[in-house]
Amino acid sequence: MNKTLFIGGIWQSAASGAEFDTLNPATGVAHARCADADRQDVDEAVSAARAALESPSWAGISPSERARILWRIGDLIEEHAEELAQLETLDQGQPIGVSRMVSVKGAAEHFRYYAGWVTKLYGETAPMSFPNVLQYTKREPVGVCALITPWNFPLMIASWKIAPALACGNTVIVKPAEQTPMTTIRLVRLCHEAGIPDGVLNLLTGGPDAGRALVEHPGVDKVSFTGSTETGRAIVHASAGNLKRVSLELGGKAPSIVMPDADLDAAVTGCLQGALLNSGQVCAAYTRFYVHRSLADEFAERCAKVAAQMRLGPGSSEDTDLGPVVTGEHQAHVDALVRSGMDEGASLLTGGSRADRPGYFYQPTVFAGVRDDMRIAREEIFGPVLSILPYDEEDEVIARANDSEYGLAAAVWTRDVGAAHRVAGNVRAGTIYINMPNPVEASAPWGGYGSSGWGREMGSGAIDLYTEVKSVWTSLA
Ligand code: ADP
Repeated sequence: MNKTLFIGGIWQSAASGAEFDTLNPATGVAHARCADADRQDVDEAVSAARAALESPSWAGISPSERARILWRIGDLIEEHAEELAQLETLDQGQPIGVSRMVSVKGAAEHFRYYAGWVTKLYGETAPMSFPNVLQYTKREPVGVCALITPWNFPLMIASWKIAPALACGNTVIVKPAEQTPMTTIRLVRLCHEAGIPDGVLNLLTGGPDAGRALVEHPGVDKVSFTGSTETGRAIVHASAGNLKRVSLELGGKAPSIVMPDADLDAAVTGCLQGALLNSGQVCAAYTRFYVHRSLADEFAERCAKVAAQMRLGPGSSEDTDLGPVVTGEHQAHVDALVRSGMDEGASLLTGGSRADRPGYFYQPTVFAGVRDDMRIAREEIFGPVLSILPYDEEDEVIARANDSEYGLAAAVWTRDVGAAHRVAGNVRAGTIYINMPNPVEASAPWGGYGSSGWGREMGSGAIDLYTEVKSVWTSLA
């Protein structure tokens, strides 16, 4: 399994021979070894991707043929759905139902959605003031795209970058997170099987060094990154050499505002779902629950009761509600923030520590009486932790919701249509959910304000990210 680099159509080991283990988070035991790419492998992958960019088998094929290949990838993902779901759960830890219904289904949908775009990459024609001039635009591929993905939804996030990058005619080097490379390796095999030509889609397994080498490389035209805000900042600096196009989807600290007239049953269920999907390892996870003071105690009590009854277990068990977090290091990060909440005086209603079992499990944790200045209300935890903060007035709650460096997602729970849209209009976040948890779909733009990133993936936003617009002027004289 250690020939996990795919460069120019050949599966190979790292030039250095280095390897790393990937662990099952439910046990902490290594289940596979992968090649650990470094600068030399990056050079080779960039050369392969550059050569493929102009190759007749990619640049020369018709839009409908390219669309057919992407559609076929969606079909192959579906044909291998159960295998991919089991592999994602083994490597990442998520409950098998989440792997099936979110990760694998989502991955197939992204390929199908962007298959549809390939034949519709239209330009525009503007009315011109110059006499006798025809102007039109066309969309061209950006070039070689380095796609660097995180460990929370490895298959789906790789898909939501690879699909539009290929749809627009780019060539790709994908680097999955070192904690969770397995489903990306499998996906790349399926893409090859579907007919993606050699060199068009390359894969480097490896860690931050491989990521850094890609981001600095003068032969890479674009970087698309999903991960932590800190790494996002490093990427912005490192990519400046050739002024690469950079898109970033980074951290979040989504507020969920429960207004006084909210349907409390729906709010409790939806808020828990929005907070605890994939053990809270979701950038759009609801984390700051601003609940109107008239409902705050009841909301907190009900959330704590449901959270306390959730079944922790390996993702591979069908009856698991909450799987492990991804690594021991991440478990320690979640625990340190939970401790800070206790130290700063938040009241712990349930959870509050690691689960007493092997693997990287953390108890679902609910804090009430949280203040805006506490670390648990400000920093991204990326774990199964809810903070409940009472509020009194709409203006006040909007100001508090916006008092964050992040702006990826937000939720509002109310039966009042006017209030729902006032809040949706005034909260600064890339996605607002009204009376619902926080899914994603290929057709809806995805990205954040402020330190949550640059650009919008999915929908037509990704077409803008993966194309250059060329304006052509012609004299008709
Ligand atoms: P975390 O800190 O939560 O593990 P990161 O945001 O650092 O997550 O990692 C997300 C992805 O970015 C992974 O694929 C990782 O290997 C990669 N990465 C980490 N550091 C860098 C870097 N400096 N430059 C480019 N990629 C990086």
